[in-house]
Amino acid sequence: MNTSNKESFDIIIVGGGLVGLSMAALLAQSQEHSPAANRLRIALLDAGLPQESNYSRDAVENFDPRVSALTVTSQQLFASLGLWEQDLASFACPYTDMYVWDTGGIGDISFSCREVRQAQLGHIIENTRLDRALNHYLGRTGLEQYRGNKLRHLERQEEQSLLLLDNGQTLSCRLLIAADGGNSFIRQQAGFTTREWAYGHQAIVATVATEKPHAQTAAQCFLPSGPLAFLPLRDSQDTQHYSSIVWSCTDALAQELLAMDEDQFRHDLQQAFENRLGQIEAVGPRFSFPLWQRHARDYVQEGLALVGDAAHTIHPLAGQGVNLGLADVHCLAGIISAARAEGQDIASHQVLSRYQRQRKGHNLGMMALMEGFKRGFGSDDLLLRWARNTGLALVDSALPLKRQLMQKAMGL
Ligand SMILES: Cc1cc2nc3c(=O)[nH]c(=O)nc-3n(C[C@H](O)[C@H](O)[C@H](O)COP(=O)(O)OP(=O)(O)OC[C@H]3O[C@@H](n4cnc5c(N)ncnc54)[C@H](O)[C@@H]3O)c2cc1C
Repeated sequence: MNTSNKESFDIIIVGGGLVGLSMAALLAQSQEHSPAANRLRIALLDAGLPQESNYSRDAVENFDPRVSALTVTSQQLFASLGLWEQDLASFACPYTDMYVWDTGGIGDISFSCREVRQAQLGHIIENTRLDRALNHYLGRTGLEQYRGNKLRHLERQEEQSLLLLDNGQTLSCRLLIAADGGNSFIRQQAGFTTREWAYGHQAIVATVATEKPHAQTAAQCFLPSGPLAFLPLRDSQDTQHYSSIVWSCTDALAQELLAMDEDQFRHDLQQAFENRLGQIEAVGPRFSFPLWQRHARDYVQEGLALVGDAAHTIHPLAGQGVNLGLADVHCLAGIISAARAEGQDIASHQVLSRYQRQRKGHNLGMMALMEGFKRGFGSDDLLLRWARNTGLALVDSALPLKRQLMQKAMGL
């Protein structure tokens, strides 16, 4: 690798998805009040351009079909950056209730924010809103960015990492933060092992307009082919008639659903959702994502940390992926700040291991819980169906247990 005119940084974050952007924003914020001479030199690198959307937005009411269910904890992270009230709150739809049921049996369970004495269970927001707010924030900090540049080659040396970009430029850093998503190039190049499997399922996402208002309720039904979620959206008139759907199903069914004309898709969707929101009046463009479960055995090496989907990819059925990634970066940013304050080497294995210790158990616990839901509901086995319906009824009637589940899912 030609290193004659390389740029050197203390930290480089590779990946400008929601997790990498948030990592960069938190690090920039943490040294906002430091004298210039004491500041770390930090860069963000991403293959795409800021606010670039891969999606056509000529959707129903122009909603971005990619949305996130944010927990209260994630909302607090954006509030701490000064982005919630100013940039995000007016686009976010609070959901006060959640209703989950099983179309193959008689089981159902409902959750209400009143049961945990909160104003809402969380918020649904379009990913592009979060992306834009974070990019504006970073623009104000002057953090250095290499956008539209892909990391092509990585060389790990004892004291630094060398990064070759596809435009031929070379960067180096003491601490490399990999936020480069589920197929992380860095994770593979650095030799991290993972435990992973493809579900053989796709998630179809789209925006829909419904006859009945969603009443700020997130609803999910478990079909024999997989879960179907309706996530409430906020429109400018606050009519409560728009939802974002995530329909997880086998690859074969996904191909069928994607190929259908709009009328047939609306019909099948309405039937699958058991007419709970009346007629499906319109559907925006449909997109699909292959679903994986993946977890890196280690999150850190000397000089390198994995965050977000690069460390763990989870089924979207409980809307936890971004939330776990945001909790990762909040934790790692805190550990870096504390280590700096104590004069420790922020890239040392000893310091980075604190991050792994704090996050790995929590992430694994959430993944196991979601996998349990997925397997329990995904099965047609009669005994399992009986057990899950009985289990749902029991949990529904046992408020303390239900509260615990809710608090875990809300990140409280
Ligand atoms: C259908 C669906 C619904 C979901 N719903 C929710 C939800 O409601 N709530 C929730 O919390 N989570 C949800 N998730 C999960 C969530 O979308 C992911 O966890 C999250 O997007 C991961 O963010 P990330 O920043 O870690 O990775 P990504 O968003 O994958 O970002 C990775 C970035 O790295 C860049 N990159 C990759 N390789 C390179 C390279 N070699 N060089 C330079 N740049 C590179 C890419 O350009 C990209 O910008 C959902 C997922 C799916 C599939």
